[in-house]
Amino acid sequence: MTRDRINEWVRDEIRTLSAYHVPDAKGLLKLDAMENPYSLPEPMIDDWLEVLRDADINRYPDPDARALKQKLRHYLQIPSTSDLILGNGSDELIQLIAMMLAGPGRVMLAPEPSFAMFPLIAKATGMQYVGVDLKRDDFSLDLESMLAAIKKHQPALVFIANPNNPTANLFAEKTLKAILDAAPGLVVLDEAYYHFTGGVTAFGWLSQYDNLLVMRTLSKVGLAGLRLGILAGSPLWLAELNKLRLPYNINILTQLSAGFLLDHAQVLDGQAQQLCHDRSHLEKELKRLPGVKVWSSQTNFLLIRVNDAELVFSELKSHGILIKKLHGAHPLLDQCLRITVSTPEENSELLRVLRLIL
Ligand SMILES: *Cc1c(COP(=O)(O)O)cnc(C)c1O
Repeated sequence: MTRDRINEWVRDEIRTLSAYHVPDAKGLLKLDAMENPYSLPEPMIDDWLEVLRDADINRYPDPDARALKQKLRHYLQIPSTSDLILGNGSDELIQLIAMMLAGPGRVMLAPEPSFAMFPLIAKATGMQYVGVDLKRDDFSLDLESMLAAIKKHQPALVFIANPNNPTANLFAEKTLKAILDAAPGLVVLDEAYYHFTGGVTAFGWLSQYDNLLVMRTLSKVGLAGLRLGILAGSPLWLAELNKLRLPYNINILTQLSAGFLLDHAQVLDGQAQQLCHDRSHLEKELKRLPGVKVWSSQTNFLLIRVNDAELVFSELKSHGILIKKLHGAHPLLDQCLRITVSTPEENSELLRVLRLIL
């Protein structure tokens, strides 16, 4: 009965989707989701809780999060001619952008493999999703295929994560600009891993390209639990998006906490630096393991290929370590696994178990 009603009323594109699956990590060493492994120094936690003491949780939060945006502008060095819009994680911003552009025959185009939320949100909002394979050898953008697909599908929206998840690489500036020149609609560059690139950003391009928006998040620098995504770009585009944004999407605790943490940004930046440093060591050690290919990374994770991804994944899990199995997600990710860079101690534990398994 219920099923009949669901079949009649829930839109086809929703019924045929699968929800985003988050594995249960209870009791496991969590190296699957690009989280920052470090907590805040103890005295800072006390100061943070002092700030929260004054939160008016009986009142609605500032719908425009003005105080927080001011700090973000400064911290992220947003060009003065650009505006900002905040999301409950950048996932929400991806959804808002798709909702703004969705319609019959409207296409979202993205390179593949890339962030799993792009196709999921495209389909959920009724957009047609078109994926264009990256080059097989080094996961660079295949400009020729991208331009051909843009010409053929006239996408309303092109989404590119730079650096890309799960391939960990930055794309060439020239290639990205050629795509911006060719795209008829909006292009969003998702810079979720900015902090691990040594400072590569397209913020400086915003004044040149009126079809570009640049997205950031605080999730990968230690604040995944707060849920705060940031989108920068032309005030004209953002004014349209703002009509779709629910008025109180950034709650008071997030506004106050993020504001406090941006006042102590050197702590988060320092942790990101440390992770970049430990990434080199982990990369070098992984490369020494038999039968393991490691791609170089501009992110806080490493993509590796092994002889039997399923076996390595399940053996690690039975030794208490959770990583991400990518094998099966896309043909280019055959026998691939993704490992989040963690503390020196946790990286060593991973290497110890891998040496046992391989
Ligand atoms: C992790 C990640 C995000 C982060 O999403 P939030 O909703 O801000 O946590 C966005 N884009 C890419 C490519 C990512 O890998």
